[in-house]
Amino acid sequence: MMAMWFFNFMAFDFRPRRCGLLPNFLPESCLDHPALTAHFNLVNEKNISRINDAVRDVPDFPKPGILFKDITPILASGELFRLAIDEFVSAVGGESPTKIVGIDARGFIFGAALADRLGAGFVPVRKKGKLPWETHGASYTLEYGEAHVEIHRDAILPGEKVVLIDDLLATGGTAGAALKLIQQLGGEVVCLTFLIELAFLEGRKNLDPSVRTVALLTY
Ligand code: AMP
Repeated sequence: MMAMWFFNFMAFDFRPRRCGLLPNFLPESCLDHPALTAHFNLVNEKNISRINDAVRDVPDFPKPGILFKDITPILASGELFRLAIDEFVSAVGGESPTKIVGIDARGFIFGAALADRLGAGFVPVRKKGKLPWETHGASYTLEYGEAHVEIHRDAILPGEKVVLIDDLLATGGTAGAALKLIQQLGGEVVCLTFLIELAFLEGRKNLDPSVRTVALLTY
């Protein structure tokens, strides 16, 4: 009875947010209320702003002309890492994926934490030659040359609901190739999610427009 009253009270006490509605007194971290977060598909602007402030710009890395978005300060803070995973949970919304696929290498970090939070399994998409079992692979074009990513053939079951995650969407080559691998194995990608999108590179053009794509931060 008490629990019902509490839930109703939270459900009706709203204030407007960018992507939805958030109960007034919900703690800034939604960790304590993952079900609520998923239910209302919320984005907490204060969380997003704090995560944004922690991204470190490193000019000319790994080569001249590249402004590298360093997310290690987020990982190094227990609180910010938790807030980032809160926001990924929110991005996934009401979906119930059974697999989270993370892209080599920083996608592993966010992906594994998200999988744990959602009670899903974790599957790595890796660069060529890194996976030990039978693989399914795809090549894609880089600015200069080609790259190749692979997934274990038995990692996704036909019809399985999957979320694909990486730290950053740039040209979309890597995520586009990973998406194809999952779809070719019969997986249903319910959401593609990134911490950062470099929108000026128009990476979404290389992704399947029918798959919901969410970036927490857009530059
Ligand atoms: P792309 O295939 O061009 O979308 O590149 C995405 C991959 O490259 C991601 O796995 C990122 O980790 C990495 N990446 C590309 N550009 C940057 C950048 N400016 N800062 C940090 N990581 C980047």
